[in-house]
Amino acid sequence: MGIVNCRSCGGDDLRIILDLGSQPIANALLLEEELGRPEARYPLMLAFCPACALLQVTETIPADVLYRREYPYFSSSSPALLNHSAQHVEALIRRYELGPASFVVEVASNDGYLLRNFVERGILCLGIDPADGPVAQANTVGVPTIHDFFGSRCAEELAGKGKLADVVIANNVIAHVDNINDLVAGFARLLKPTGIAVCEFAYALDMIERCEFDTIYHEHLFYHTLHGLTPLFGRHGLYLNDVKRLPIHGGSLRLTVSRTPARSDELQALFAQEAALGVDEISFYNDFASRVRALRDSLAKLLVSERDKGKRIACYGAAAKGATLVNYLDLGEGFFEFVADANPHKQGKYMPGQRISIRHPDQLVAEQPEYVLLLVWNFAGEVMRQQAAYRERGGSFIIPVPEPCIVRPGTPLDDTQFAISPTRAPPPPLATGSIGNSMAEQAVEVAKSCATGDDRILRSRRAP
Ligand SMILES: [Zn+2]
Repeated sequence: MGIVNCRSCGGDDLRIILDLGSQPIANALLLEEELGRPEARYPLMLAFCPACALLQVTETIPADVLYRREYPYFSSSSPALLNHSAQHVEALIRRYELGPASFVVEVASNDGYLLRNFVERGILCLGIDPADGPVAQANTVGVPTIHDFFGSRCAEELAGKGKLADVVIANNVIAHVDNINDLVAGFARLLKPTGIAVCEFAYALDMIERCEFDTIYHEHLFYHTLHGLTPLFGRHGLYLNDVKRLPIHGGSLRLTVSRTPARSDELQALFAQEAALGVDEISFYNDFASRVRALRDSLAKLLVSERDKGKRIACYGAAAKGATLVNYLDLGEGFFEFVADANPHKQGKYMPGQRISIRHPDQLVAEQPEYVLLLVWNFAGEVMRQQAAYRERGGSFIIPVPEPCIVRPGTPLDDTQFAISPTRAPPPPLATGSIGNSMAEQAVEVAKSCATGDDRILRSRRAP
């Protein structure tokens, strides 16, 4: 159902800044026997709320449709994510001196991939997640996990049992819960007076700047900036305290909030940067839709011209963002040979909409298509290292964002763990009023690592 009012502040002046058309649910993989049936499609539009600066998709698909069925994502299948989580836990333990007397709760804890680091250190923890399979898996490996949706009700039940948390962790969840006020109220209820909540989420500023439009899908309801989050948390007595920019998922933030109104230098700086860019003004988003269309057109042109030359093109990564990309490209069923994915729960099924057959990554070497469109570009380094044999035998990867880029065999890889872009170091602070500098520097870095000679399709969007 389409919303009329902002999910955070209730404002009724939502402005559409991007329309990606009618799309299937990105994670609704199809079984062979479902191929004969039509799929449900829903409008996929991104809107800006001028009253509170929050970006959100306009359509709400009921959570039981999105999450209650067999959900194919098991976080533990990503080595990069496991490593990222272990480092995060170590940092939390050190910084907040967590020990046997502490209690940590993770919301949307999936298969326990993060909390198991606390279990190993003897720190009491609890996971909460609505997905059956991953919850069963978490309990099997010794991570206590409740099968439930988190919100004020769940927090109240835990609080009633005296289970208040020193730390609440919520990674990639505050972008996914429709009743965002109830979620944040739950954080506030669950925290001890001195407790902190730590949230990681894709950063909307990175998404807009790098044209990562494929991170938009129905499950991903919100696209957060510090400006959009400040009134949301403030409404529930919580303050933004600290922030760290992370390269994961194409650019994310790790945000720390608590009942104490203190801002770190990093948070002040990023807040000032957002203000200088005008992320709370509709004009900042004016050219996003035209940049997205230009990216789609250039990628489609590249793919179609290679296919017209007889080259075969497969995809890698049957992830939600991949579904948005291939369905927005809309090149037709049969255009791509297949999509490789390491998750055994996805193999044998089909991506929604374009209905691309999902197969084991071994098929890349077995079939050796000339190109692989990397749908999970956020794991570019990891995937291309794993697929060294495919590359050595002459296969090329195509990275779709921020601009289409061909990685030919023999091109050395950037050693960053999660992606070719962004670069290893966090982006430098932007000059006041300019959005060019860090993008240009990153683009140059990306170009160095992934383009040579005539393949140098990638250019800086706003080179000085
Ligand atoms: Zn609003």
